[in-house]
Amino acid sequence: MHTAQAGRVRQHGVVNADGRFAPSPTGTLHLGNLRTALLAWLFARSRGGCFAVRMEDLDVGRVRERFHDEQLRDIAALGIDWDGPVVRQSQRTALYDAALAALRDDGLIYECWCTRAEIREAASAPHGDLPEGAYPGTCLRLTAAQREERRSSGRPPALRIRADRARVGFEDRLTGPFEGVVDDFVVRRNDGAYAYNLAVVVDDADQGIGEVVRGLDLLDSTPRQLWLGARLGVVAPRHAHVPLVLGPDGARLAKRHGAVTLADRAALGESADDVRAELATSLRLCEPGERPSARELAERFSIGALRAAEEVAS
Ligand SMILES: [Zn+2]
Repeated sequence: MHTAQAGRVRQHGVVNADGRFAPSPTGTLHLGNLRTALLAWLFARSRGGCFAVRMEDLDVGRVRERFHDEQLRDIAALGIDWDGPVVRQSQRTALYDAALAALRDDGLIYECWCTRAEIREAASAPHGDLPEGAYPGTCLRLTAAQREERRSSGRPPALRIRADRARVGFEDRLTGPFEGVVDDFVVRRNDGAYAYNLAVVVDDADQGIGEVVRGLDLLDSTPRQLWLGARLGVVAPRHAHVPLVLGPDGARLAKRHGAVTLADRAALGESADDVRAELATSLRLCEPGERPSARELAERFSIGALRAAEEVAS
């Protein structure tokens, strides 16, 4: 939130940050994750901005405490530092509750009992300009009797937000203009956990994040988040979606591609400085053989040079 009255999500003593890295503590960070973390840090620190780390740990079934500690250790080893305490989404339920209550008051929330299979089936039929796989609004059109029947079934509903197929565009700082149609996405899952799209909007606003730097795989979800932010009355951050690191087979980098974590590299005798230099070389920020510190990289970094490097690489 950039002004006290800007939104309906309360400000409560969290450091305002220009940029952030927000991993999920569900596995070991690989070089692709680390490159995104380094870029997010460079965007913020190269202009003297604050930087926050937030753990997106809402998926309790997959979160492991050891990954929380290990991820912080790994980014610190690369020279990535952060301001204020590490924010954990699992401790911020009251903020999400308040946002959901505000959306409910506006009549935007409805219950959805669809199973995954039902959604797949419904979404495979053509629905005008909705993107592939989008939710077509089945449960919005239930009759009162059908709704009562589902309520009495005992199966807990997910909560969706009515977006009326809003069309939302924005200017990405790296990839340029992007536009998407917003479907009625889930804001709270049927197991009671808040959905990523709600939590990320509330947290970025609460932490005063001015610029979201993250992987290109999240580009599609940005129109949903911008639209939701507008419903909550928060100031929208700018966005820069950075290319993902690919394995030799052209697929997104993963464990099966070999030595892709800091621990794997350490076992091969490579230090965190070596890995940082490798990442910086891929960003055209250093020459082979150089070992610049993270601070030195922040001095060299510019978004114009990054855009040029990405164009050369593609
Ligand atoms: Zn449904």
